[in-house]
Amino acid sequence: MVRRVSILGATGSIGQNTIDLIRRAPSEYRVVALTGAGNVAQLARDAIDLKAEIAVTGREDLLPELRDALAGSGVEAAAGAAAICEAAARPADWTMSAIVGAAGLAPGLAALRNGTTLALANKESLVCAGALMLRTAHAHGARILPVDSEHSAIFQAMIGEDTATVERIIITASGGAFRDWPLERLAEATPEQASSHPNWDMGQRITIDSASMFNKAMEVIETHEFFDIAADRIEVLVHPQSMIHALVGFNDGALMAHVGPPDMRHAIGFALHHPQRRDLPVERLDLAAIGRFDFRAPDERRWPALRLARETIEAGGLTGAVFNAAKETALDGFIAGRIGFTEMADVVARTLEDKNASDGLIGATMSLDNVLRVDHLAREAAKAAMDKRAG
Ligand code: NAD
Ligand code: MG
Repeated sequence: MVRRVSILGATGSIGQNTIDLIRRAPSEYRVVALTGAGNVAQLARDAIDLKAEIAVTGREDLLPELRDALAGSGVEAAAGAAAICEAAARPADWTMSAIVGAAGLAPGLAALRNGTTLALANKESLVCAGALMLRTAHAHGARILPVDSEHSAIFQAMIGEDTATVERIIITASGGAFRDWPLERLAEATPEQASSHPNWDMGQRITIDSASMFNKAMEVIETHEFFDIAADRIEVLVHPQSMIHALVGFNDGALMAHVGPPDMRHAIGFALHHPQRRDLPVERLDLAAIGRFDFRAPDERRWPALRLARETIEAGGLTGAVFNAAKETALDGFIAGRIGFTEMADVVARTLEDKNASDGLIGATMSLDNVLRVDHLAREAAKAAMDKRAG
């Protein structure tokens, strides 16, 4: 049976890895929609090569360029955020959600409303609106499969288990680019230094988030939302080799660990073929050659993001949307050179405390409108917090 697949965020790191897997068995898939943003040439090339129905760029100013690149190919062209949602809403059996940031929320929801199986790399949508994502999936007979490597690992370790017997979940963190830097040097870390990851090859934003541990902080919230487990049962463990992705602890003391090479094609392929396991083009680990796995507890002075994530879960409601928006804004500020590396956590902490960041909506119904409203307000509040620091 040929499966209809769409890839949201097709030009990014996850999107390209997804395309790599689909290209290996092209006759099994019919590509519906591919979406991207600035990289229109790549988007058009892939759309033509995969015979997609439609290619959409998030940038309206790039529509003429996309049209030119697709001329004569039979692939439709469209642009803008609304067009991405419309493309995501076209019937598909499987949809990869791999846009970066809160921009991935509305397209993911649009896909879920069509009953698709949503392979979710866009962790921001669970952080901003976990309950809304799960409720929408449930209401439309859709399914969400985690693609974040830790969450795919947890999901795999729980197959066939009674979730009531899960005592704790441990997600691992490499520690990112500055794991071993002296604390006093962190304030001077540059975006360039933060953009190189010791183990994983990923988009720039998530790579910097790995160095600040905001990526792991997001993943703690993601674990809480997706697996419905209390924050005090979720542990973060620094594991420099990035080969154990997560461990699930059961009530008999057993820990089920998921071990594999740091290659996102495993988690993407698992979600693509689920419930089957298929051969995947990833390295087979030679454990004797690797020799050892190391672990250490995360130092919360080095990585205050972890504490902020727990506070966000405790506060509940729409606080996740504030946390994510503040984090994205602070990250923009760091990349633009407006604030220092360690100031990102300060900006997020201040925004979480700022009543203007939510305008009384923290306890409001989790609708897309309310989440987007809080997202907007929290970005404004985070910018104000940055202005104060930079000024
Ligand atoms: P990336 O920056 O490489 O790619 C992002 C994609 O989103 C691109 O296709 C880009 O065109 C598109 N995009 C960016 N802004 C957009 C906007 N405003 N509107 C529409 N499209 C937009 O990012 P990535 O590393 O592939 O990460 C994608 C998602 O997957 C993120 O949520 C990230 O946290 C998550 N994730 C990534 C990895 C990884 O290994 N890269 C691992 C786990 C989870
Ligand atoms: Mg991850």
